[in-house]
Amino acid sequence: MSKIVEYTIEDLIEKASVYIPEEENLEKIRRAYQFAESSHKGQFRKSGEPYILHPLNTAIILTTVYADTDTLIAGLLHDTIEDCGVEKEELTELFGPTVANLVYGVSKLGRIHFSTENEYLIEYYKKIIVGMSEDVRVIIVKLADRLHNMRTLYALSTEKQKKIAKETLEILAPIAHHLGIHKIKSELEDLSLRYLKPDVFYDIAERLDKTKLERDNTVNDMMHLVTELLNEHNIPHEIKGRAKSIYSIYNKLNKGKKFSDIYDLLALRILVHTEQECYLALGIIHSKFKPIPKRFKDYIAMPKTNMYQSLHTTVFGVDGYLFEIQIRTYDMDEVAENGIASHWAYKEHKDASQLMQNTTEQKLQFFKSIIELNEDKMSSEEFVNSVKDEVLNNNIYCFTPKGDIIELPKGATPIDFAYKVHTRVGETMVGAIVNNSIVPLDYELQNNDIVKINTSKNSKGPSQEWLNIVKSSQTRNKIRAFFSKNEKEIYIERGKDSLEKELRKRKIAFSDFFTPENEAKLLKEFKVEDLEELYLEIGNGKHAASTIVNMIYKKEEEQPQPKPKKIIPKASDNNSDVVVAGIDKVKVNLANCCNPIPGDEIIGYITKGNGISVHRKNCHNLEYLDNRTVLVSWNSNTKDKYETVILIHTNTNENKLMEMMQKLSIFDIHIDRFFTLHEGKDTIYEVTLYVRDLEYLEKVSKELEKLAYVTKIERLMR
Ligand code: MN
Repeated sequence: MSKIVEYTIEDLIEKASVYIPEEENLEKIRRAYQFAESSHKGQFRKSGEPYILHPLNTAIILTTVYADTDTLIAGLLHDTIEDCGVEKEELTELFGPTVANLVYGVSKLGRIHFSTENEYLIEYYKKIIVGMSEDVRVIIVKLADRLHNMRTLYALSTEKQKKIAKETLEILAPIAHHLGIHKIKSELEDLSLRYLKPDVFYDIAERLDKTKLERDNTVNDMMHLVTELLNEHNIPHEIKGRAKSIYSIYNKLNKGKKFSDIYDLLALRILVHTEQECYLALGIIHSKFKPIPKRFKDYIAMPKTNMYQSLHTTVFGVDGYLFEIQIRTYDMDEVAENGIASHWAYKEHKDASQLMQNTTEQKLQFFKSIIELNEDKMSSEEFVNSVKDEVLNNNIYCFTPKGDIIELPKGATPIDFAYKVHTRVGETMVGAIVNNSIVPLDYELQNNDIVKINTSKNSKGPSQEWLNIVKSSQTRNKIRAFFSKNEKEIYIERGKDSLEKELRKRKIAFSDFFTPENEAKLLKEFKVEDLEELYLEIGNGKHAASTIVNMIYKKEEEQPQPKPKKIIPKASDNNSDVVVAGIDKVKVNLANCCNPIPGDEIIGYITKGNGISVHRKNCHNLEYLDNRTVLVSWNSNTKDKYETVILIHTNTNENKLMEMMQKLSIFDIHIDRFFTLHEGKDTIYEVTLYVRDLEYLEKVSKELEKLAYVTKIERLMR
C-alpha cells in the first residue's frame, strides 16, 4: 500500500488551483483550513498525528474528483461540529449556508458505531438516503472521509479494523459504485479486503508482483503494436495499461476462476477524442487482432445506469495472450472514474451541483422504494439482505421497446421488468414478449433483452404465485403490498357484486332490499357491524349471496307468486350481447371457433345444457350442427370490446412482430396474445385481440395491409 504522505495546506491549494482558478476561492479554502486547524488544536488521531491531517487529507482526496470550492471546504470542516462543538450557525456565518449544510449533513451521518447489527444498518441506510436527497455532496465528502480513515486504519485495533472494513465493503463501496465513483470505490474495496482477509489479500498481491515483469513486457509489446496501428490510421490516442484491482481478482477467484485465467487476461485502455474514433479504433483493432465472439460490449450506445460509457472487447493479442481492451473518449473516461462527481470536471456545466442532484434522484429511487415498502413488513434481516441484493448483485440491463434502459438484478423475470417500469404496468400485465417471442412469466431475462409487456385493463392484478417467480425483493414487496392493501377491498367488492347479481337474478330492486329494517335484520342475523363487513363475508366465501337474500325474501318466495305481467323486453333492456328471437332469458355464448364480433352475420346454435352458442354465419362448424339453429341478432347494447383472432400473412422471414405491434398500438384495440404460427419465407402470425366491431377491425386490417411485407389478413376459423 502507498506510504502516507504528510500533506500541507499548500499541497491542497496546489491541487485545487489546477481546476479552481479564482484566487478568492483559494483564499476561502485557506481560511477554512485555518479555522479547522484551530478548532482541532490539541486533538490527535490514534496514529499519533495531529487531527487536522485527517480533514486535510479528506479535502485532498476530494480534489481527485475535482470537488468544487464548497465541497473542499466542507471536507476541511467535516468534523468540526461533531468533534469541536462548533455550531452550525457559526459555520453559516463564516462560510455560508451551503458549506454549513454540507458539514451538518456529514455530521448527521454520524460517527461509526462499530456495529453491523441489522437495526443499525437500517438506520445507516436511512441516513445515507437523507444525506443524498438533501445534497449528494454530503455523501461524496463522507466517501472521501472514509477513504482516508481506511488508509490510516492500521492505527486501530484488529477488531475495529475488521468492523470498519466490513461496513465499508457492505455499505460505502456499493454507494460509491452506484454513484459511479470508481476511483474511490475500488480503493475502498482493496483496503477493506486487506483488513478483512489479509492472507488472501497479500497472497494475490504477491502473485501479481511475481508475474508483473512478464505481464508488463507483454502489455508493453501489445501497446506498441496498437499504437502503431492507430497512428497508421491517423487516430490520435493515448493507451494505458490497466491494473486490475486486487478485490476484483479476489471476486473472480471466489467465483471459481483459476488465478492463471485471471492474470493471463491482460488489460488495455485506449482513450480517443470522439465517439466516432472509438468505433474506428475498434474496427481497426479487430481487423488485426481476432476478437473473441460475444465478448464485445457497446456501452456507448447503451450506457450503464451509473452513466458508464465505453466499448469493451477481448482479442487475441501478442504471444497468444488475451487482451481485454476498453475504448472510450476522454470525457467517457472521466465519467467512468468519477461518475456523478464528473459533473464537476466540466466547466461548461454551470450548475454542477444541481446536475448531480438530478442524477442522484434516479439513484435514490431504489433506496427509497426499499425503505418505504419494507420498513414494517420485513424483518430487519430480510431488509438488509434485500438492500445487499439490490446493491451488490451484478445487474443486468434490458430495454423497453422504445429503448429505455431498465436495470434489474440478475435472474429477473418479465414481472420484475414490468414492476420496474411502473407498478401499474406490473399490476395489469398479462404477458410478455422478449425479443419478439412470447415468453413465460418465469423466463429469466438476459442482458440486452428487449422486453414488451402486454397489459390488460381487465387484469385482476398480480397472482400469489408471482411471489415465487420474481427475483427482485422490490417487486416481491410491491406484490405483497398489493395483496395486503387490496385483499380486503377486493373481497368487499366481490361480495357486493355477487349480492347485486343475486338480486338482479331474482328481480328484486335494490331499494326494496336495502330498507333500514332489512339492513338491521341482516346485521343482527349475521352478527356483523355494517354492510361492508357483510360484503366482506360474502366476498371471502363465508356466506353465499343467496343465503343473504333468502334471509329477507324466503317467506315471500314461498308464497304463491302473482302471475307476472308478460313484458316483452326491448333489445336495449337486455344485458346480453346477442338477442335471440323469441326467447328473452337465455344463456348466450360467443363461439370461440370463429369468435364473432358485432357487425358479423351470426347464427345461434342450441347446445345441450349450455344455452345458445353464437357462430359467424360462415363458420364451417355449423355444417355439422343440423337443424338446432336459431335466429339471433346483435344487441344494440353491446360490450366494449370482443375477442377475435386474426392471421397476418407476410412474405418475409424477418421477425416483424415488434413493428406490427407498434402499428397496432395507435388503435383502440387490446392485443391479448401474439405468436408466430408458422416461421419461414412466409411467416404467419396469429394475433388474438379485442375489438369493438367488424367495421373497426376492417379499419385495423387495412392499416396493417399497408405494410409492404403483409400479404393477407384473415379471421381465424378453427
Ligand atoms: Mn472524519
